[in-house]
Amino acid sequence: MTVLGVKKGQSLHSSGIIGGMMSKSNVSEAKTKEYLERYMEGVKKRNPGEPEFVQAVYEVAATVFPYIADKPQYHEMQILERMAEPERVISFRIPWTDDEGHIRTNRGWRVQFNSAIGPYKGGIRFHPSVNQSILKFLGFEQTFKNSLTGLPMGGGKGGANFNPKGKSDLEVMRFCQSFMTELQRHIGEDTDVPAGDIGVGGREIGYMFGQYKRINNKFVGVLTGKGLEFGGSKMRTEATGYGAVFFAQNMLKHAKDNIEGKTVLISGSGNVATHAAEKIIALGGKPVTLSDSGGFIHCEKGFDQEQIDWIKKLKDIRRGRISEAAKEFSNVSFTENSRPWGVTGDIAIPSATQNEISGQDAKVMISNGIQLVAEAANMPCDQEAVDSFLAANVKFGPAKAVNAGGVGVSGLEMSQNSARIAWDSDHLAKLLESMMSDIHNSCVEYGQTKNGVNYLQGANVAGFVKVADAMLAYGHV
Ligand code: NDP
Repeated sequence: MTVLGVKKGQSLHSSGIIGGMMSKSNVSEAKTKEYLERYMEGVKKRNPGEPEFVQAVYEVAATVFPYIADKPQYHEMQILERMAEPERVISFRIPWTDDEGHIRTNRGWRVQFNSAIGPYKGGIRFHPSVNQSILKFLGFEQTFKNSLTGLPMGGGKGGANFNPKGKSDLEVMRFCQSFMTELQRHIGEDTDVPAGDIGVGGREIGYMFGQYKRINNKFVGVLTGKGLEFGGSKMRTEATGYGAVFFAQNMLKHAKDNIEGKTVLISGSGNVATHAAEKIIALGGKPVTLSDSGGFIHCEKGFDQEQIDWIKKLKDIRRGRISEAAKEFSNVSFTENSRPWGVTGDIAIPSATQNEISGQDAKVMISNGIQLVAEAANMPCDQEAVDSFLAANVKFGPAKAVNAGGVGVSGLEMSQNSARIAWDSDHLAKLLESMMSDIHNSCVEYGQTKNGVNYLQGANVAGFVKVADAMLAYGHV
């Protein structure tokens, strides 16, 4: 067996790889590329049929390899190889009964990816597309994101291939209870603390927390994103969308610019998208699009707060379709089965799902003059799109930095639960704003290049260093 071209039993030093990587000047770009390709071949071989996971590992490895070229300790201790292997993947059956009395079965997972710097932490996703590859990519990304927040949280992710759309409240409740009946034995306030994600909002967290409490007879902060009545944190609902806009604001400020007057393309119409739109409006920008899986809506003069409030109710309470907004508002149009990337704008904040901006979309956006892309969803840009934005010098904020505000405030919810206190919104808003500014500064520190700041490199390397150093301290565990 070979790893990075090294035979079993042979150290990287004796193989000559580390010798060649001792100093940056000794390792040519071509050699680093060759090591990266060999590493990725191994990742692909070990994870067949998991393209999203392989894509996420590549994105990190491509920026971390040049950084560690002159740092033999990371190679010797096989840090990147171990980081690409989840500590544990749990997969389980979720039987539940629908309203007609039929028994249904779904598959659930919890990927406990890396606990080097704290208990596993990451959301739960309910969507028919959920599979092991998607959850492994999300858990891997989460490890670096959580590290960037500066809080002691490891990385994890979970979910089920369950589609909450069209299900009654009672069906969703029965599903959540069955999901938690199995999950509860694997999680705990000091072990693994899940949160919400696509398809898992306040309603689902309430049902799952209730079931955990009932089985364990313990009232502890085992989930975040809880209702304010039972241990939830103020600002958690707003945190991801607001945080994404704060991050974009920091990027613009660094380039001596600001959000005021900018036209902003947003995709999605869930928690992240609507709160991003709300913060853009508050800062004087103009959010002109939103979307769901049926198509996108466009408002040329920019949505106002009243319209955003209506859309929040539509999606969160009535669970309707975004097309309904075009019937409600005369200045809003709907385009079916399409994404908003053909609309002209200054800033894009993709806030729906992974791989929603292709290389082709990126080319259109670049030719329309896009200046900044901030990934509020997880991995919304495919690799070709990322490469195109970077090559065209579009300011590119990667998800693990841009959307870290959500898990950041989740971390603060854990702190409040442990101390049995509740902070007020103003205090939490300040903490969120300063957390996003600190994350931005870390990206600048590690992402300086001769062409300005490469935020992708900055986020990956800054996130990597803390986790890697903790893993070094533990030896090979
Ligand atoms: P929601 O479930 O609240 O909203 C998701 C939105 O994305 C909906 O508008 C949904 O449309 C749309 N969407 C989902 N899947 C697809 C698809 N395959 N094609 C087109 N549209 C789709 O989720 P969130 O707002 O919470 O999450 C959005 C993104 O942000 C995800 O990538 C998530 O991982 C990420 N994120 C969320 C955090 C949070 O705190 N909530 C934290 C960090 C990241 P429809 O209604 O038609 O399904």
